[in-house]
Amino acid sequence: MIDFHCHLDLYQNPEKVIKECEDQRIYVLSVTNTPSAWKHTSFLASNSKRIRTALGLHPQLAKERIHELQLFEELIPEAKYLGEIGLDGSPECKNFWSEQTKVFEKILELSSSSGGRIMTIHSRNAASEVLNCLSKHPNSGVPFLHWFSGSQQELYRAIDFGCWFSIGPPMVSSIKGRQIISKIPKDRILPESDGPFTSIKNKQTHPLDVLVVYQVLTEIWNEPIDIVENRIFTNFKKLLLQV
Ligand code: MN
Repeated sequence: MIDFHCHLDLYQNPEKVIKECEDQRIYVLSVTNTPSAWKHTSFLASNSKRIRTALGLHPQLAKERIHELQLFEELIPEAKYLGEIGLDGSPECKNFWSEQTKVFEKILELSSSSGGRIMTIHSRNAASEVLNCLSKHPNSGVPFLHWFSGSQQELYRAIDFGCWFSIGPPMVSSIKGRQIISKIPKDRILPESDGPFTSIKNKQTHPLDVLVVYQVLTEIWNEPIDIVENRIFTNFKKLLLQV
């Protein structure tokens, strides 16, 4: 199985979660919320063959951590993946919108000048704005919209632009989320847990909970589980060729 967006470093006991991922042979993209978390988070997974660490600066932290852009720039040569990055247009984040756009644009600029990266992007209440920024930086890499929740029009624009999508437990358990998933091309999807920030029946999600994503895809695609697993793994291999 694959969990393409998980905050391993923010579990109470990351070592235990990592050990469980290893035992179950699950591939994980371990995202970070600040450049200062990069070193320790990559170290956590340094002996894990199936875990990769992404360098991030979360939009919700854009104001308090804008000074870490310098560190982001220093670290980007080491990082094949970027995230969590993006924009958040919700009311509580709108008052530092200018810092958010400054941070996101700078990261896209750095990614472009480094040859492009696979990027896992937050776009809550800001899908159009994220797409506008991506359009300005066409060489920034492969954009993954994680937990997409925009309009149908924004979804089609993202698909036309070439975006990929990572989908998790909250999306597969809501009607709107399932409608979105049914419209995404089957060859642009990977599962995610977004743990530990999401929950299933009031229990914090674990990377292994991506199983529920596979199960719901069998319903949405009307295909047996082995076909779904094959598709997802084929997508993953295709993506890795672009790193
Ligand atoms: Mn996240």
